[in-house]
Parts: sequence; C-alpha cells; structure tokens
Amino acid sequence: MKQAVMTAPGKIEFNNIDVPDINDNEVLLQIKKIGVCGSDIHVYHGKHPFTSYPIVQGHEYSAVIEKTGKNVTKVIPGQKVTARPQITCGNCAQCRRGDYNICDNLKVSGFQANGCAQDFFVVSEDVVYPVDDSISFEKIALVEPLAVAVYATEKPGSLEGKNVVVYGGGTIGNFIAQAARCRGAARVMLREISAYRLQVADACGIDYISNPLDESMEEAAERVFGPEGFSVAFEAAGARPALTDAVNSISKGGYIGIVGVFSKAPPVNMAFICEHELKMAGSMMYKHEHYLKAIDWLKNNMIQTDALISKCFDFYDYLDAYKYIDEMNDKVMKVMINVNN
Ligand SMILES: [Zn+2]
Ligand SMILES: [Zn+2]
Repeated sequence: MKQAVMTAPGKIEFNNIDVPDINDNEVLLQIKKIGVCGSDIHVYHGKHPFTSYPIVQGHEYSAVIEKTGKNVTKVIPGQKVTARPQITCGNCAQCRRGDYNICDNLKVSGFQANGCAQDFFVVSEDVVYPVDDSISFEKIALVEPLAVAVYATEKPGSLEGKNVVVYGGGTIGNFIAQAARCRGAARVMLREISAYRLQVADACGIDYISNPLDESMEEAAERVFGPEGFSVAFEAAGARPALTDAVNSISKGGYIGIVGVFSKAPPVNMAFICEHELKMAGSMMYKHEHYLKAIDWLKNNMIQTDALISKCFDFYDYLDAYKYIDEMNDKVMKVMINVNN
C-alpha cells in the first residue's frame, strides 16, 4: 500500500509498504480524504514544537471500514467512518477524571504518532465513529475541526440568547461562529482582516461580519449589538490585537474562549479582567461527545461547508497542496488530499 512520510521539513517520501495487521480491538480503515490544517503546515515548515521526523501526517479524515478485529462491535466492514486522532494514557490525573483531551501523555496522530496519510490505517475501536452514508467523504473529513468548535462553544455554558463575537475567520473560527448559532446564540459576529475569509463566512450564512481594517471594535459592536453589547467571545486567530479588542469591549462578566495559537505571549490587561470580572478559558481539541455532536450537526445540515473546501489534491501531489496553501495565504480555506476515490 502507498504511504506518504514527511522525512524532514518540506520533504515527503512515498513508500510502498505492507498493509498493517490489527489486533482484536482494532479496525483497519481504508482512508478516503484527508484535510490539511494549520498545524500540518507548521510541521511542513519545521515549526511545530512537538513533532519530530520522520512522521506520517494526517489527522482530519474520512474512511471506510476495511476489516474489524474479533471483539469489535461498533462498526462493520464497508461502513463510512471517521476517527478521533487522540491517543491518551488513561493513567494521568486528567485522564482519570475524564479530561483526556489534556492528557499529560497525549499523542496526536500525525504529530507525535503516525497519521493517516496512507491507503490503510489502524485505529482502536473506541476512537472510531460511524457516519451516516448520506454525508460525503469531504464533509466527514471536516468532523475533526468542527469538533474543536463544538467543544469551544460548550465551555462557556449555554449560549442561548447571547451575543457572540468570533475573532478569526479560518476554518476553526468559521466553525465556531456556526456552532454558536447552532447553540442558539442571538447574534454572532465574525471579525477577520481577510476580505476573502469574510466572504466565505458570509457564504456560510454567518449573519454579521466585520473587518477591523474598516471599522473599530467599538463601531462594530455598536452596529451589530447596539447598547446590549456582547457577553461571549472566542479568539480563534492567535492575534494580539484581537485579544485586546475582546478584553476591552466585552460586557462585564463576559467569557473569552481561547482557541487560537499565539506564537508570542500576548499582553493582557489584567486590571480589566479583575474589575470587569471577565472569564477566560482555553479549550484543547475535543472529547468523544463533541465528535458525536459534530457528526450530528453535519448530518442535519446545520453546518454549511461548501464554501470551506477550497481544493482537493491527489495523494502523490501532497507537497503541491502545502505549496498551494503557502501561495494562497489568506485566500484559502480547507485543502484536502484524495487518498482513495
Ligand atoms: Zn487539524
Ligand atoms: Zn493521560
């Protein structure tokens, strides 16, 4: 079977290897589509702090069950599936209390363990999710980033009737805005400096969009929310000015979710956090139930994805996909790799 191995930053080798064996509790997946995300690009550039080479990439994917181990009851061969790329220890304090997404020994497929950039891939039964036949392989490959948004929007508690601002209009920010709407938010505004990404947000039915290059945070909040303001914000851009805007403009007692990756530690006005009783919390990946909800929302057409899929590359053009993402810069959303048709 074919396999793509990143042997060094910017270098992919294609191998022909044997199809792996499975144990009684594992399943063998035939990989269909793989979504490429920002973290994969960091690995491509040699800038991912927790990944070493060689590595087989790929953690957002759709597949079909090829074979199941003796003890497997959750899925049967031929079924469309996706899988959660988290390998957790089960022993650390967080795992023991159910917070395995922040496991001390967390390994993510495609980063600290090999991923799915190959014809066939073995995973444990407990991380496999059967998906309705009506959902396309492209959409199934979006379950992973959508699950990030499902979890991030669950953390603040009920969003019912609340006004929400999302900073950053990449795939994650876009999904967070859509997820907030699914959770009953009153008004959702997405702030983003890329005109292209704002256009995509608009095409995905996100009601209010705002470009910081055109209007200040105060103007945008006044235009969209009026005197009511907003009480929930999500930072999904990893941008210092966005975080500053959120802290300075959110209503007293508001919640700011941190999802973006900050390459440099941002200065935060702690006096404001204290006096305004702001709450700030990170969210890291997702858990089992967020995968289930992401699949459910996709199945029920509650999430718009058409405008999010920019381009699909053939397996042997893996490197071209990365080059394309680099070249297109902010004018690209989700790029996918076609492993098997
Ligand atoms: Zn990803
Ligand atoms: Zn653990």
